[in-house]
Amino acid sequence: MVEAVKGTRDILPEEIGRWHYVEDAARAVFGLYGFREIRTPVFESTELFQRGIGEGTDIVAKEMYTFSDRKGRSLTLRPECTAPVARAFIEHGLDRGGGLQRFYYVGPMFRYERPQKGRMRQFSQIGVEVLGSDHPAVDAEVLEMLARFLERIRLGAPEILLNSVGCPVCRPGYRDRLVAYLGPKRDQLCDDCRRRLETNPLRCFDCKVPSDQEILRDAPRISDHLCAECRDHFQRVRGFLEAAGIRHRIEPRLVRGLDYYRRTAFEVVLPGLGAQNALLGGGRYDGLVESLGGPPVPGFGFAVGLDRLVLSLPDDAPIPDESPEVVGLAIGEAAVGPILQVAGRLRGLGRRMVFDPQPARSLKSQLRGVHDRRARFALIVGDEEVAGQVFTLRDMRGGSQERLTEAALVARLREDTRA
Ligand code: AMP
Repeated sequence: MVEAVKGTRDILPEEIGRWHYVEDAARAVFGLYGFREIRTPVFESTELFQRGIGEGTDIVAKEMYTFSDRKGRSLTLRPECTAPVARAFIEHGLDRGGGLQRFYYVGPMFRYERPQKGRMRQFSQIGVEVLGSDHPAVDAEVLEMLARFLERIRLGAPEILLNSVGCPVCRPGYRDRLVAYLGPKRDQLCDDCRRRLETNPLRCFDCKVPSDQEILRDAPRISDHLCAECRDHFQRVRGFLEAAGIRHRIEPRLVRGLDYYRRTAFEVVLPGLGAQNALLGGGRYDGLVESLGGPPVPGFGFAVGLDRLVLSLPDDAPIPDESPEVVGLAIGEAAVGPILQVAGRLRGLGRRMVFDPQPARSLKSQLRGVHDRRARFALIVGDEEVAGQVFTLRDMRGGSQERLTEAALVARLREDTRA
């Protein structure tokens, strides 16, 4: 038997309501702030990610699904969606007319990582991007929107961990200080960090190895080495967040894995998620559009891991019920036609109805099935009903039954069946 590929999984119908719930909440909240959906292709030219994310990152260095197509072009399954959105923005000249552009996306991303709970090779993200302003109010407004979204899906108000990662003016100087601090301790670092020291030393802060973390605890902090403009930006973002009452904490060791981040960087972690506890991450990426050959347009955004979000939903989240409201039970072939016909009318009223014309089980066990599916009604038709041109409607809540003509049935189910 051929099975799903390692690191991928099927999301079955019984889980999908949780996904719809989260996605619908995101669409509703993001819409309030003027964000509109953008759908970009699942694969792109490899070069987009090499230039956009940066060669020194783990993603580009070792996690991309890259392949050649039949004409020998190098293509990559998108590992993230900020670079694709920036590409689309440039390609369609969406900056014409100036002003802010706000996008959101939902969809699968692909990274060749070691699979574990909450870490997949195909996973879904929902993310937003604002292009066109480097004003700190943009950062604060997007964070406020994020907090509203998390509250709406009843994740409470998880703390936002916030930092500034500087800019091309102040980061090189900080980078030198960090290398000067870590260099003499090189031999005590893990293999990954030794590599990062050469390629992208700030990434050492992402290391999970305890002895490395110990060393990093006393490392110089970027927040102490920001240039005046970055410091001012950071202070203003914090001021806006405080004014809006958004819970956040400065985390001086927070860096983001992708090269394009400037200034604000943030993350939300949830303790219940275990080792893969980062629920979402984002920040400002003022250099990205330009580095992809576009105009110097600043940007800000975040991406939430949907798989992790769905895992974290509280038990009392009001997941919409997608189960059928009415299940038709035909006893004998003569009942099939009348049920099929009335099912059409009921669906016309907006009632969700299902019907199996060839049940291999007894009526009793079918009724148990109706109960298990959490349907409100069973619509039973046997020879007597066919002869009398009526339907037996059984209310699964109390077990009461009524015999109704088609017109009476339609009138009865015109009301809300959940009431
Ligand atoms: P990143 O694009 O790396 O900033 O990731 C943003 C969010 O996407 C993370 O906080 C996770 O929730 C989610 N994510 C990233 N990689 C994976 C993965 N391999 N499996 C599941 N979720 C992931």
